[in-house]
Amino acid sequence: MKIAFIGLGNMGSGMSANLARAGHDVAAFDISEDALAHAVQAGCRRAASTAEAVVDAEVVITMLPTGKHVAAVFAADVFGKAPLSALLIDCSTIDVATAQAVQADAAARGMVMIDAPVSGGISGANNATLTFMVGGSDDGFDRARPILEKMGKTVVHAGGSGAGQTAKICNNMLLGATMVATCEAFAMARRLGLDLQTFYDISSVSSGQSWSMTTHCPVPGVGPNSPANNDYQGGFATGLMLKDLKLAMEAAQSVNAAVPMGATAESLFQVFANGGNAGRDFSAIIKMLDPDRPKPGS
Ligand code: NAD
Repeated sequence: MKIAFIGLGNMGSGMSANLARAGHDVAAFDISEDALAHAVQAGCRRAASTAEAVVDAEVVITMLPTGKHVAAVFAADVFGKAPLSALLIDCSTIDVATAQAVQADAAARGMVMIDAPVSGGISGANNATLTFMVGGSDDGFDRARPILEKMGKTVVHAGGSGAGQTAKICNNMLLGATMVATCEAFAMARRLGLDLQTFYDISSVSSGQSWSMTTHCPVPGVGPNSPANNDYQGGFATGLMLKDLKLAMEAAQSVNAAVPMGATAESLFQVFANGGNAGRDFSAIIKMLDPDRPKPGS
């Protein structure tokens, strides 16, 4: 199948490489020459522009930073350039309103488009273990599924246009709030004199358990290996957590949803990111919530 892949960054590089590895003809484009060269090395075909990549594509996939990038790329270089029969899949995490507006533009031209944001991070992208949350028509979902399955292990049809983005931001709002709560609990346990590995052993199999605790435990040396053990490098960057929380707050406002926990998480991650921590794993926020924590080993 001829696939155009636009946006070859942290996520798109692994995803496009997996499609090429699966035998698809992947025409790749990124405004970064380094990213493009990397994709070509991984088996993709070099395109000189988005317009060139999509010209004979059966499927167009985008993995771009924000809604503004997605709207601009589709308006300038996909609509009117890609064949009307091409299936359009946006995998970026963007605001629901933009996802729906771009899909409405596509539909007005007689094209099928879905939103298919992902969970699973860079390792999921590299190892083809992503979860895809799809918004759009049954037809779009059925056509996209075999392609998405080459890049992930779970593909769920969340509902109509924008439902994939809705699922993603609701999930990530919950993630942000559980991380803050997990850090608070470890900080309080420490101040009350409880051994933190003991607390983990109890809480990770009790009702306080969460993905934040068992996969990204914020305390170095406690629980399974996590970014905390590597000075909070790698993992899920605070800047991306903040981006998703901001999208969640925008969406909450648009439907008048009460999200006090999400709002608190957003303001805490904003303060933490402003302190020069946007590139650290989001579990590093424990440093702000429990500032006089002893260094590991001391
Ligand atoms: P990234 O910044 O590493 O990659 C984005 C790429 O898009 C860059 O290489 C950039 O050069 C390229 N780009 C920007 N404008 C372009 C244009 N006009 N034409 C072509 N290429 C263009 O970001 P990422 O980490 O790969 O994330 C991509 C999306 O996936 C984001 O929406 C992010 O929120 C989401 N996401 C990221 C993660 C993660 O762990 N990194 C996890 C889940 C979802």
